[in-house]
Amino acid sequence: MILSNPKGTQDFLPQQSRQKHWIETKFRETVALYGFSEIVTPVFEHTELYLRSTGLSTDIVTKQMYSFVDKGNRELSLRPEGTPGVVRAVLQYQLKLPVRLFYIGPMYRYERPQKGRYREFYQLGVETIGEAIPETDIEIIEMGNRFFNNLGLSNVITKINSVGCPICRPKFRNQLKMFLDKNLSDICEDCKVRAEQNPLRVFDCKEEKCQDIYRDAPKITDNLCFDCQNHFQVVLNELAERKIPFELNKMMVRGLDYYTRTTFEFVLTDSKELGSQDSLGGGGRYDNLVEDFGGPKTPAIGFALGLERIMLALGAPTSIKKLVYIIPLDSNAYQHGKQLVSTLRNANIPAMLNNPEKNLRAGLGTADTLSCNYVIIIGSNEMNKKVYTLKDLVKRTQQEIPQDKIIETLKL
Ligand SMILES: [Zn+2]
Ligand SMILES: [Zn+2]
Repeated sequence: MILSNPKGTQDFLPQQSRQKHWIETKFRETVALYGFSEIVTPVFEHTELYLRSTGLSTDIVTKQMYSFVDKGNRELSLRPEGTPGVVRAVLQYQLKLPVRLFYIGPMYRYERPQKGRYREFYQLGVETIGEAIPETDIEIIEMGNRFFNNLGLSNVITKINSVGCPICRPKFRNQLKMFLDKNLSDICEDCKVRAEQNPLRVFDCKEEKCQDIYRDAPKITDNLCFDCQNHFQVVLNELAERKIPFELNKMMVRGLDYYTRTTFEFVLTDSKELGSQDSLGGGGRYDNLVEDFGGPKTPAIGFALGLERIMLALGAPTSIKKLVYIIPLDSNAYQHGKQLVSTLRNANIPAMLNNPEKNLRAGLGTADTLSCNYVIIIGSNEMNKKVYTLKDLVKRTQQEIPQDKIIETLKL
C-alpha cells in the first residue's frame, strides 16, 4: 500500500488546520461587514458548466480539469473554480438580486505542483451578483484589503486593469491581432496559438522574449469604449481617495474568459516566501456570465483568494493552542483534578487531565507535545493552600492562583 498522499495534494496537520481555521474565521468576519452570506455548492458539477463559463480557450478547461464519467454516464468535473457553481445556483433557485455571497472550499486543477500551488487547493471567494456600479468594484477591493490587514499582511498591493466589454473588446482584438501577426516570427509557439484563438491571452505568457515584445503592443486599457473608460476612471479615483494601495497594470488580463471591465489581483510587495507565486488571488467583473447561462442580463463581480498562498505569506503558524493541561501529583489531587477539568470545560475552557500513571515530568512532556498554553499543577501543597500552580507556557511564567480565581485568570 502507498502510504503517501497523491501528488499535488496536501494534508493539513493539526497545526496547519488551526491556522486554516483562523484565516477562514477572519474571512467570515470581514465579508460579513459588507453584507455577504455563505453559499455551499457541490465539489463537482456538470462538465458543460465549465466549458460554457470558464471558457474553451483557457488552460483550465483544456488541460487542467479533473473530468470523469460517473456510473450513470453523466459527464462531471471536479470544480476548478467557484464562480460557475455559484452563478448556476443563483439562477437555479432564482435568488433575489442583488445578492452578495461568499464560499470557502477546495478546488481542483491538474497543474504542475510547486510552492504554494497544489492540485487540490482551497479558495476563499466572494460573488456580488446584480450590482453594476463602479462603487461595488471599490467595495470589493477595499474588502480584500481589509481582510489582508486583519490577517496582519500589510504589504499587499492591488494590481488593477480594465479588460473592456463586448463593445470595445472586438475592435481592440483586431488591433492586437494585427500587431501579433506582424511579430509572429518572434513570439513563442503557445502565443502563436493564442494569437489565433484568444489574442488577449498572450499577455499572460511567461516567456521573457514575448513579454519584451508585448510592452509595445496596443493595450485594451487605452482602447476602452466611453462607458468602460468612465467606469474604470471612477474606480481608480476612488481607490486613490480611500488610500488603498494599487498599481495600474495594463498587461494583466487574467486567465478566465468571462471577465469584463475591472480585473484585479492582490499581490504581496515583498514576498520572500512566495517568490514567483506572489499573487494571493484576484478577481474581476463578469457582467455577461449570467446572460451566457441563459439568465437575464445581470452585472456581477467577485474574487477568489488562495488559502495556501495566504498561509505561505503568513509563515509558520504558532504551535501554541488554547488548551489547559492539568497535572495532579497524587491520588487525592487526581480526584480534585477530575472535577477541575469538567469545571473548566463547563466554562468553555479547553482542558485535559494528565494520565495518573504519568509523573510530573512526563506530564509536562505531554503538555509540550500537545502545544498547550497553560499547565495547572496540583500537589498536596496546593491542596492545603487551596491554590493551583499555573504555568504559562507562552510567557514562561509560573504563579500560584487561588482555586476560586482560576476561571477568571484563564479567561483573561
Ligand atoms: Zn466597453
Ligand atoms: Zn509567448
